[in-house]
Amino acid sequence: DHGLSEADPEVSSIIKKEKERQFKSLELIASENFTSRAVMEAVGSCLTNKYSEGLPGKSYYGGNEYIDELEILCQKRALAAFHLDEKKWGINVQPLSGSPANFEVYTAILNPHDRIMGLDLPHGGHLSHGFMTPKRRVSGTSIYFESMPYRLDESTGYSSLFDLLSFSGWYKYGTGLVDYDMLEKTATLFRPRLIIAGASAYPHDFDYPRMRKIADAVGAFLMMDMAHISGLVAASVVANPFEYCDIVTTTTHKSLRGPRGGMIFFKKDPVLGVDLESAINNAVFQVYRLGGPHNHTIGGLAVCLKHARSPEFKAYQNQVVSNCRALANRLVELGYTVVSGGTDNHLVLVDLRPLGIDGARVEKILDMASITLNKNSVPGDKSALVPGGIRIGSPAMTTRGFKEKEFIAIADFIHEGVQITIDAKGLVSGSSKLQEFLKFAVSSDFLLTDKVS
Ligand code: PLP
Repeated sequence: DHGLSEADPEVSSIIKKEKERQFKSLELIASENFTSRAVMEAVGSCLTNKYSEGLPGKSYYGGNEYIDELEILCQKRALAAFHLDEKKWGINVQPLSGSPANFEVYTAILNPHDRIMGLDLPHGGHLSHGFMTPKRRVSGTSIYFESMPYRLDESTGYSSLFDLLSFSGWYKYGTGLVDYDMLEKTATLFRPRLIIAGASAYPHDFDYPRMRKIADAVGAFLMMDMAHISGLVAASVVANPFEYCDIVTTTTHKSLRGPRGGMIFFKKDPVLGVDLESAINNAVFQVYRLGGPHNHTIGGLAVCLKHARSPEFKAYQNQVVSNCRALANRLVELGYTVVSGGTDNHLVLVDLRPLGIDGARVEKILDMASITLNKNSVPGDKSALVPGGIRIGSPAMTTRGFKEKEFIAIADFIHEGVQITIDAKGLVSGSSKLQEFLKFAVSSDFLLTDKVS
């Protein structure tokens, strides 16, 4: 039996190149992170060989003694990492990832065409929260369920007054926050069966008490998809969704720094007459996935969740938030419009439209400089392909040891990249000249990422 480089030099070489890319770039994608070697070891272990359909002790396969032990350990660690009482909360650690976890919840508690309300995708929500356009039911969640999004409050807009006030520092937020009044009004009319909190691009806490009230008033379940912020929740550096929600889903590979997977937490007491424990466990395996869990992922997750209870993990999550704040403040100092005026978590959204440029071009230019982030819709955007903003996240580079000083340097690099993009756009509108410029950009000093020491 050969090692990878001998058995398959082609794949081995691609992995080597990807490793080098990850190592050399400034990784600022808010949903990405570098997991630990210990997690990698568990994920790359013999656990991948084993089938174990069903829950521990009730598997449809033999030879499950150790796999069951592992899954039970992982469940216990998950509840402990999020400070949950085992008598009140249950957990399923088998979802293959974040979107499947969400779909499994919907399958468990909804009937086809039941009504759901999640944050609209162009306003920071996720595809799996019911996204559809006025013309098309884009996501599976909008095909199988009737979706009515809620949105951010744009009423204060991006006025010069807002910019002025946010510059002066005393008016931090005011636009780009969830419009709970709209959610309440719409929910009263739409009467959803499920309200979903959580986002892929929202730099603040959700108002869980308010959402709980709205859900109760209309007889809806309240679910939080904490995929982006689960590490921050475990470290108690953001508000705790478990106090108010019936169900909490998450990915495991973002701020939590685990392997690529998903988890579903649910209240043990029945909610709205539904026994969530049996409905969700049943949905995960027999209704939605219809196959075996990824035991190597559960192994890696158990390792990650042990780490999530350590003082270092808490210090890391605090640093993630401080770094992001330093980055946002520097961008505001440089004159950028930051959606909602700042950040309370691991990401910041920059609206580039006041500069006459879009997120797609800036993403490309920065990519050439080994600065990896993503274009992102900002409130009021017309196109998801050429959106007006960028999303910048701090978890990955904080894992690599960056502190506030380095994140201020990152803001300056991004600023340089934006300036180059604006200049390039001004050169000509034809693509060939732009390509010449890009060639120049590749060979210029700007691209030397070792500027950050
Ligand atoms: N939920 C949220 C809020 C997300 O941001 C994401 C992905 O970025 C997902 C779910 C989907 O997770 P996955 O890609 O693991 O299916």
